[in-house]
This record gives sequence, structure tokens and C-alpha cells, in this order.
Amino acid sequence: MSVERESIDFDVLFVGGGPANLAGAIRLMQLAQEKNLNLEVALIEKGAEIGTHAVSGAILNPVALGELIADYTEKGCPIETTVRDDEFYYLTESRAIRAPITPRYLHNKGFYVISLSKFTKWLGGIAEELGVNIFPGFAGKEVLYDEDQDAIIGVRTGDKGIGKEGEQKDNFEPGIDLHAKVTVFGEGARGSLSKEIEEKLNIAAENMPQVYETGVKEVIQLAEDNYFKTSKGNDIHFLGFPLGLNTPGGGFIYEMKDNKISIGYLTGLAYDDPMIDPYEEFIKFKRHPFVASIIKGGKVVEQGARTVTTGGYYSIPKLTAAGAMFVGASAAIHNSPGLKGIHVSMKSGMLAAEAITEAIEKGDFSDASLTRYQELFDSSWIMDEIYPGRNFAQALAKKGIGKLFHLGAQYITNGRGLIDRMPLEEDCRTLLPLSNKEAAGKAGLGKSVYDGELYVDKLTGVYISKTIHREDQPSHIIVHDTQLCVTQCYDTYRSPCIRFCPGSVYEMEVDENTGTRRLILNPSNCFHCKTCDIKDPYRNITWTCPEGGEGPGYSMV
Ligand SMILES: Cc1cc2nc3c(=O)[nH]c(=O)nc-3n(C[C@H](O)[C@H](O)[C@H](O)COP(=O)(O)OP(=O)(O)OC[C@H]3O[C@@H](n4cnc5c(N)ncnc54)[C@H](O)[C@@H]3O)c2cc1C
Ligand code: SF4
Repeated sequence: MSVERESIDFDVLFVGGGPANLAGAIRLMQLAQEKNLNLEVALIEKGAEIGTHAVSGAILNPVALGELIADYTEKGCPIETTVRDDEFYYLTESRAIRAPITPRYLHNKGFYVISLSKFTKWLGGIAEELGVNIFPGFAGKEVLYDEDQDAIIGVRTGDKGIGKEGEQKDNFEPGIDLHAKVTVFGEGARGSLSKEIEEKLNIAAENMPQVYETGVKEVIQLAEDNYFKTSKGNDIHFLGFPLGLNTPGGGFIYEMKDNKISIGYLTGLAYDDPMIDPYEEFIKFKRHPFVASIIKGGKVVEQGARTVTTGGYYSIPKLTAAGAMFVGASAAIHNSPGLKGIHVSMKSGMLAAEAITEAIEKGDFSDASLTRYQELFDSSWIMDEIYPGRNFAQALAKKGIGKLFHLGAQYITNGRGLIDRMPLEEDCRTLLPLSNKEAAGKAGLGKSVYDGELYVDKLTGVYISKTIHREDQPSHIIVHDTQLCVTQCYDTYRSPCIRFCPGSVYEMEVDENTGTRRLILNPSNCFHCKTCDIKDPYRNITWTCPEGGEGPGYSMV
């Protein structure tokens, strides 16, 4: 049935309300004021509010923030604590060995601990004061191209009020066509529209693939008398247990205010063992005697999960197309050795805003004109920061002692290492087939591990993250061939989706009488972390945006 849609024209449209796009929108309005330009600028965000889909660590290097809003303290920037010193530990199964030195890229003294959720909410308020039209609860569902299909002219937001079988319900509201001279994609890691554009316009063909880590993160309320009252550092990073050295990943604990902490564990999706479950790795990390001694007596108050893009410099696609720009984690912009993406994402948005202003002054929105953003990017301090990490993800993905040689060589040669432009493998290609015997020996953590307070299971985590989706709508997770799931994927990998998903969205049901297997989906549990879209070994899963305004309801992770 054809649907009549409203269409609205803007000068600039930002898709996604993360730090990259919010900084971009703020910088654009500042420049418009300076140059007396009258611009109509909009920003759409799929979360119900700005910040409700924001998950991070987070240590904030304030360099981009200071350039954007010099008086950020007076303007009420929500800072939890200032990092007074760093601690770095290697964990064996039972011990924590304090490293005598912290690697230089993890020197965070003087930086801030923030909640990305609170920080983006604050940035959103500033953008709105400057005149940006902010539309939370609207997901960019489709990219709009010109007639020749080679220039981007905006996005279509998702329809609302569609029933499970695709029928229009009484409350049906068609999506809106948002047209713009320039559309800026800041969808974060594995953006669904950015991915589609990269494939259609072939803008990442020359690059290494983008690779990711899945982070599961919590805010825990500790007692008044806790580790950080006497510790030297309040920013702690961990390597080793439980993943060991063969799989990239590690943990962090940062002190927040009011005796809260931010704790998380990242599992590199380059892992090869199909039985790995990133959520369980996080629980094992929390159960380590040293970590457990820091968090004892605490209570989980919020949980979230999200992938981080870690490929670094060689994974960054071309940053422009006709009518479009790509900023932040959508474009793999991340300081991987430093575990920081917020400030470089913000700066990329700010540079995009400068190039947009020049394009508006010239009235030219072709790819050649917008490429000014790429020039600004290439000569900015972002490059000074991320170029030395250009082979880091590749070295981390190596196994055994070889990894340490590569990392050591890169440390002393400012990133060049033993091989420059080391190859990277796509995360969906790294799983190794599992024999029945191996699978049988690897049961998941038992129920007794969870106490419902400090150690919560996946479903309790979904509840604590305030994740909700209307049940009565078509699944936003598309499994293209469900037969493949119960045959080839089960036989070869024992259905890794039921483990790699932190939200228990995937279940394998077995009929007791016939032994027939069936994949069950619970899309309403989805954290929007995008792990399934990345790690599925058959690329059989596509994550799409559900109705705008649904998903997690984060307020402090
Ligand atoms: C566990 C964890 C720990 C981290 N620790 C740190 C740290 O300590 N320091 C640091 O600097 N960085 C850290 N990072 C990385 C950092 O969070 C990211 O680099 C940063 O958030 C990227 O910003 P962004 O604006 O590009 O994307 P995001 O922050 O992901 O924001 C994208 C936004 O766009 C919205 N969106 C996506 N698609 C659409 C669509 N189609 N329509 C509408 N809206 C859409 C999303 O809902 C989201 O709000 C961490 C990340 C994780 C997951
Ligand atoms: S369904 Fe996919 S995106 Fe949603 S929580 Fe699970 S792995 Fe993450």
C-alpha cells in the first residue's frame, strides 16, 4: 500500500545524537552565528531522549570539549571525578600483579570520569539553546538518494504503529522524509545506515575491515567505605584473566561520584572460540578475587552493552560522499591503544561543521566540495593521536608471545612496529568450527554465580537497563535464513548467537519429542549493541533500527 509521507527540508541533518554529532551541531551553530548565516539544522536520535542509548566507560580527554565550549565547567558539564592517577594490573586466575608502569597511552591523570549518558544529555541542551532542532525518538531507517543514486539527499525516519505482520495499526504514523543539503552520519559503531552507504557507494573498498570489541558495563553503588577512599589511582585498567592473552580484551574500573563506580569488560570480537560469551567474561572478571574485593557489598544500579570500533586508522573509510559526511565511531574514528573515542569523535564532528560552513558559503555540496572535511581531518590533532595506533588492533589479535613482540616493537617505533599496515581479519570470519567433544566440555556459568544484587544474569541486566520495545511489531533483527541456523550454524559452531548476544535475544528451542531445533527471537531485549550484526559467521543477521523511542533507557552508564 502506498503511503503519503510528509517531507521537511533542512540545510543540515545530523543522524544520531552521540558526542560526534552533538559537537558537530554545536560547532555549526557557533560558526553560523559568527558568519551571520541563517541555517535550519536538525538532529535525530533513535533513543527516547538524548543520552538514553549512550554507553561508554568513560574517561574523557577534555581537549575537544575545551575547544568547543571553553567555559564548560561554568555551563554545568556533568563531571563525575577527575583522574588523580592510573593503576594497571595483569590478572592471573587468582592474583593481580600491579604493573610498575602504566603504558603511556593510558596516562589519564587530569582527565575526567563522565557518564556518557549524562554528558550527551547536557550537550543536547546546549545544541538546542543554539537553535538545533532536536528530534529524539526518531530513527533514521532508510537513506534517501538522488535520482542517479549517487548523491545522498537525506534520510527517511521509521514508520510507527506497524503490527507484527506488517499491517498498519490504528496508531500508524508514516515516517518522514528529512531532506538536507548535507547529511552527517554519526550513528556510532556499526551504524546501520552508514554500513549500507559504505557498501552501496563502495567508500571503504581500499580499507582494512572495521573490527570491534563488545563492552558490557555497569554502574555499581558501593558502600561509603570503599577501595577508592585510600587508593592512589581512581582509573584502573586490567589485562589477562579471564580472556588471557590469546583474545583481545580487558577490564576497567573508574571512580564516579557518590561512591559509585563504572565497571566494564571488553571482549574483542576477533575471538575464535564459538563458546565465548562476552557477558560471562564480564561476570568472570567481576568474580576475580581482586576485582571482587573492590566491588564487595555493592549493588548494580544500571547495566548496558555496546560495541566499540577498534580497527583504528587503516579502517577509517572515505569520510565524505556527495551530500554526506561520516563522523565519530560510525567512521571507525577511535584511539584504540588509549581506549578513547569520545574526544576524537567530537573533534571529527567539529571539523565536519567547519567544512559544511565552507560548502554552504560556496553553495556546493558535491563530494569534491565536502572533501574539505577529509583535508581538515588529515591535518588535525586527531591524526597525531590515532596514527601511532594504526597497527595496534592487528597486534592484539595475534596469539601467544608473538603479540607481545608486535606490541613492544610498536611501542618503541611510534606505531610502525615489525610490519606496517598489518592485515586485519573481519570479525565474522574468525570463529573456528567446534567438535561435539569440545562443546560438551564448556558449559556456561551456573545459576549460583548470580545473586541478583552485585552479580546479575542477562535478563536482570536487560531489566536494569530499562530496555523496552513494543512486542507487537515486526522484529528489527532480521535473520535471513533460519534454516541455516538450526543446521549448518548449529552443527559447526553450536549457535554462537545465543552466547554472544548480551541481551538473550536469541534462543535455540529443541522439541523434546522430535529433537527438531527452532531459533526463537526476543527482540524486545535488545541493547542495540550490534554484536550480532558483526559476529555472525554467516552474515545471516542484519540489525535494523526498531521504532524510534524504543530500546535501552540509560541514564548513567
Ligand atoms: C564499554 C565502553 C567503554 C568505553 N570507554 C571509553 C572511554 O573511557 N573513553 C572514551 O573516550 N571512549 C570510550 N568508549 C568509546 C566511546 O564511547 C565512543 O567512541 C563514542 O561514544 C563514539 O561517539 P559517537 O558519537 O561516534 O557514537 P555513539 O556514542 O555511539 O552515538 C551514536 C548515537 O546515534 C544514535 N543512532 C544510531 N543510529 C541511528 C539512526 N539510524 N537514527 C537515529 N539515531 C541513531 C545512537 O542511538 C547513539 O545515541 C567506550 C565505549 C564502550 C562501549
Ligand atoms: S540482538 Fe544483537 S544488537 Fe541486540 S543485544 Fe543482542 S547482540 Fe546486541
